[in-house]
Amino acid sequence: MSALTKRRYRVVIIGAGIMGLSTAWHLAKRGITDVLVVDRGYLCGGASGRNGGGIRAQFSSETNIRLMRESIEICREFAAKMQINVWFRQGGYLFLTRTKQRAKMLEASAKLQRDCGLDTRLLAPSEVRDIVPEIDPTGVELASFNPGDGVVFPWPFVWGYAKAARDAGVEIATFTEVEGFSMRGAKIAGVRLKKTRHDALVAEDRDERTSAGGAGPLIDHDRERAIDEEGEAFEVECETVLCCAGAWSPAIARMVGIELPNKPHRHEICSTEPLKPWLGPLVADLTDGLYFSQSMRGEIVGGISVEPVPHGINQRSSAQFLATYARSLVRAVPTMSRVKVLRQWAGCYDLTPDGNPIVGHLDECENLVMACGFMGHGFMMAPVMGRLLAEHLATDESTELFDRWNFRRFKEGRLLSESMIIG
Ligand SMILES: Cc1cc2nc3c(=O)[nH]c(=O)nc-3n(C[C@H](O)[C@H](O)[C@H](O)COP(=O)(O)OP(=O)(O)OC[C@H]3O[C@@H](n4cnc5c(N)ncnc54)[C@H](O)[C@@H]3O)c2cc1C
Repeated sequence: MSALTKRRYRVVIIGAGIMGLSTAWHLAKRGITDVLVVDRGYLCGGASGRNGGGIRAQFSSETNIRLMRESIEICREFAAKMQINVWFRQGGYLFLTRTKQRAKMLEASAKLQRDCGLDTRLLAPSEVRDIVPEIDPTGVELASFNPGDGVVFPWPFVWGYAKAARDAGVEIATFTEVEGFSMRGAKIAGVRLKKTRHDALVAEDRDERTSAGGAGPLIDHDRERAIDEEGEAFEVECETVLCCAGAWSPAIARMVGIELPNKPHRHEICSTEPLKPWLGPLVADLTDGLYFSQSMRGEIVGGISVEPVPHGINQRSSAQFLATYARSLVRAVPTMSRVKVLRQWAGCYDLTPDGNPIVGHLDECENLVMACGFMGHGFMMAPVMGRLLAEHLATDESTELFDRWNFRRFKEGRLLSESMIIG
């Protein structure tokens, strides 16, 4: 395990996705650099490298609206601060609804958003074309638009946090899997790690099992590989473990005997050939889960819910998705029927029963802190959540937010709500 400099760290973070890396960087900013981030795969291998890059403050709950206002501010400054271009573009989010019931929810949410300081406005179907002239508003009941929402290119966002955290002294070990924990009573004393092989991960994606070979993803292995001994298992000690393992988090919790209620759920997405810029906002139809935006490179990137998809880690693509997406996209924008899809991929949403995340200490395991269950909006949450998680880890003070979002709410029957979920 050569490249790890120590056998003991103050904090071990499981998962080098946007959540783990944002937290690691915020810890370093507070002077806590005795931090190890481990990931069983490569940077951007989880949902953080597979998402649509949508960043919005249009939610139905005040907590999410206020948190996302701060995240958007962080996104605005990210490129200059981190010296990396994340292609942040504030073209707004245009939400469409096609039922009276959802229109009511959209109305109430827009009011709440305005009370929280957003510029959200409601649009009648005939006004939708003022924002996107190419949209066919037939069947649309109501729409809402907030010009401050936007999109980023997720990969450089992840790389930006990773580089800044590393430069500040945080260690990041990719291809390093958490296999289990050594316990001392109700506390984790050590984290058992093992090197993983990238060809095995690629095969897992394809649902194949190979013992060798296979073309790996295009990444900088020399820079990313932290551990050189093949297959060797070893243990590091730590004071606190932060689980940012996204859709794999229930599996991590199971290692200490805790059954979380969140479930991994495949979500598919695709991108087209590049087009001249024509689409300002990310458009999301709350009725069938369709969403699409135009990247800075011109591609239309979008997805839709495809049902039924059994719960479980599954990152394979399906023809059913393409057909469902194409049908809904062409209904919304008929001229899209002539555009070619170039690439299709999938990742996992991390779904909780009440659409809100699981964040904070677990009562059952004193030094295990969870940050998971972020549904389809965890990327946009990570800039602000990283700051809050680092504050929590540094001070050990619990906040109202971390009490509200704690796992114990499910045992106490205190379910929350959030209606503006895409996909
Ligand atoms: C198709 C799609 C579109 C989406 N669109 C958006 C969007 O537009 N906007 C938005 O905000 N969100 C979106 N999301 C959701 C968002 O991507 C996630 O909520 C967010 O990336 C979660 O980040 P994370 O760091 O918590 O998890 P991840 O990025 O999934 O990282 C978890 C990491 O943990 C690692 N890991 C797992 N098990 C272990 C182990 N045993 N040992 C070590 N490491 C382990 C994994 O390898 C992984 O890299 C989308 C998701 C998908 C799938």
